[in-house]
Amino acid sequence: MRLAILLPNKLIIFEEPSENGIWVPSRNPHLNKTQFYPMGKRRKSKKQPVWLIILVILLAFAFVVSRSLRNNGFFAATSDTIQITNLLNPDNKQESDKNRSLQMQNGENKSPRNKDKHNNSIQPEKPIIKHLEMLNPPERPDKKLLLGKASPSQRDLLMVSVAPGFGNRDGLLMHRDAYNAFMKMHQAAQQEGISLIIISAYRSFDHQKRIWENKWNGRQMLSDNIAATSIKDPEARAAEILRFSSMPGTSRHHWGTDIDINNLNNSYFLNGKGLKEYQWLKENAHTFGFCQPYTRRSTRNNRGYEEEKWHWSYLPLASVYLETFKDSVQYQDLNGFDGWQTAQPLSVIENYVMGINSECY
Ligand SMILES: [Zn+2]
Repeated sequence: MRLAILLPNKLIIFEEPSENGIWVPSRNPHLNKTQFYPMGKRRKSKKQPVWLIILVILLAFAFVVSRSLRNNGFFAATSDTIQITNLLNPDNKQESDKNRSLQMQNGENKSPRNKDKHNNSIQPEKPIIKHLEMLNPPERPDKKLLLGKASPSQRDLLMVSVAPGFGNRDGLLMHRDAYNAFMKMHQAAQQEGISLIIISAYRSFDHQKRIWENKWNGRQMLSDNIAATSIKDPEARAAEILRFSSMPGTSRHHWGTDIDINNLNNSYFLNGKGLKEYQWLKENAHTFGFCQPYTRRSTRNNRGYEEEKWHWSYLPLASVYLETFKDSVQYQDLNGFDGWQTAQPLSVIENYVMGINSECY
């Protein structure tokens, strides 16, 4: 009698039990090794289920581990690893952001994601947006532009001509951003029956020099109909001119951001049409970005120029220009006109350039 047992990859055939009751596997050449199964006790083999259980456990374990690692991004692109590294190491991230910023400034931002793949430095979306916002601040002007000495080609990049209907004559120039804002303000005012006409806008250093020297040399009377030449002390003479006129190099009109509207006399704005225009500007100009830098002197610690109800400044640009002026222009830059030596003794930069309505900073 024979007994055959089928295992997954083996067939074991046992011969009849011998006298001692033990079944003996046949010497089948397909068997790798001899196995003994005491059939008398009919004990089931535990090797097969244990082997299978271990295999199943191993497979299950491998499956769970692979799922877990995949979810944690272990198999994801290198970018994720970089992100994690950056979170853990802010310095590394800042450096990477700086590199990105430089790439953008160099015009290499056409495809930041591809570029980053190449550079192994992908960043999350938010910092990219933040950088794009930061790359568009108002431009900081150079010193020549602040002093009114910008070359015509440099001016052409920034200045536009004021169209008929917005100015009282041809040839008025203005910074394009300030002009766009003014046109909107002009339209809004017109809808309420208010007419706003620009009577002075951009002025070059040479233009301001003519105004200044005409007064300094008595060719043009000062506000109280006195000739400046009657004042012998240079500083006192300059201080008298400075009540309403800037020294060349220090005028906000050099920037193209400031305009004079409708009339150059405060008295015009005290009643009737002028009063309505001024009241409208006081109430509405700020919504278009304009402010009045030269309010009553008593509101400005009695510093700087007299009140000018006609002079309005486009703040989004002018505040940056003023800050840059403060950082870059020194008294040695203020010369080339009659009486320039009085600029420093009169602290023209501190008292006149900076001595404006605090709402215009
Ligand atoms: Zn003005």
